[in-house]
Amino acid sequence: MGRISQMQCICCFLLDRPQTSRTEVHHVRVGHGGAQRAGDFCTVPLCADDCHRGKNGVHGDQTYLQILKMTQLDLLNATLERLYG
Ligand SMILES: [Zn+2]
Ligand SMILES: [Zn+2]
Repeated sequence: MGRISQMQCICCFLLDRPQTSRTEVHHVRVGHGGAQRAGDFCTVPLCADDCHRGKNGVHGDQTYLQILKMTQLDLLNATLERLYG
């Protein structure tokens, strides 16, 4: 999980734009229950004020995910590819 917090925001990376705030670690939720967490291996780096907690971010209306046509699990896959690929 430490390595994730060192990474560039995966959403900004995929959108090919500069990251403007620090990286935070987001826990990807799987399944339909809002409270479900996938565990510490299922985390992605997202910039704090925009892709993470901004109004278009994953805790907002998820506009960026819609632009990318991706789900949070797709972000996780992209993150793992950057880490290990
Ligand atoms: Zn970002
Ligand atoms: Zn989060």
